Amino acid sequence: IQLTRELEDTNRGVVALYAELDEKAEHLRRADEMKSRFLSNMSHEFRTPLSSIRALATLLLNRVDGELSVEQEKQVNFILHGSLALNDMVNDLLDIAKIEAGKVDVHADEFEVGEMFRALRGMLRPLLDENGAVALIFDEPPEGLKMISDEGKLSQILRNFISNALKFTERGEIVVHAEALEDEGQVRFSVSDTGLGIDREHLEIIFEEFGQVANHLQAKTKGTGLGLSLCRNLATLLNGSVNVESTPGKGSVFCVTIPVVYTARHGDQHAPVPT
Ligand code: ADP
Repeated sequence: IQLTRELEDTNRGVVALYAELDEKAEHLRRADEMKSRFLSNMSHEFRTPLSSIRALATLLLNRVDGELSVEQEKQVNFILHGSLALNDMVNDLLDIAKIEAGKVDVHADEFEVGEMFRALRGMLRPLLDENGAVALIFDEPPEGLKMISDEGKLSQILRNFISNALKFTERGEIVVHAEALEDEGQVRFSVSDTGLGIDREHLEIIFEEFGQVANHLQAKTKGTGLGLSLCRNLATLLNGSVNVESTPGKGSVFCVTIPVVYTARHGDQHAPVPT
């Protein structure tokens, strides 16, 4: 009898503990939802005044020569660049909030990886250093490698990886590579650089919103710490994942691995939208 009572007490304890955990999980889910809604609303509210600032600063700069003093022109340029940087940040925040709220559709279409690389190369050319201290190399992907997925989102992830590699590499090369993982039906893309590298203890932080690591190039790059968080969200949306390996002082390799063929998961709010 004593034992039965003790067992009943333990049982009640376990049930109460589960109820408490459930309640905490619900509380966290609601807090997370509120955070996403807040981010999304805030980003929207920022957009209108920001575009007015941008438009008016551009208007001022386009005035007839001599109407602004050199000093005034410098100041207006400062306003313009500040508003452009803020605009990028607001766009990243809005993208993250939209993905977290399940409001982003995946457009699954067939595309060839080689063609995506060629388009990326063209897009990134303006970012390349004129003195050529850092070379950007796209390895030839496996012959005719095709995927059915959201090319725009994959390309956005790779663009982020490559522009980071360019920011944190002073000399050497950045290599973009694609490899089909045959038995798993996945493709792994990697962007490796010969840059600063990242300490082991910071490898997780950098994928968090606003996660940055102090280094001598950080001030110059004017980043927001949102790019990699967005990459992780985008990769999850494509049923894939991101990861990084790095050796401080030698360089880093950022990877994104996604299925060759995107399939909407059971319970996804959005089925793939063919375009
Ligand atoms: P941002 O580049 O805007 O700061 P990200 O989220 O893209 O934000 O990156 C977060 C941080 O991760 C960077 O600030 C930098 O400290 C680190 N990082 C990202 N990519 C690299 C890289 N290729 N080499 C070294 N550090 C990097």
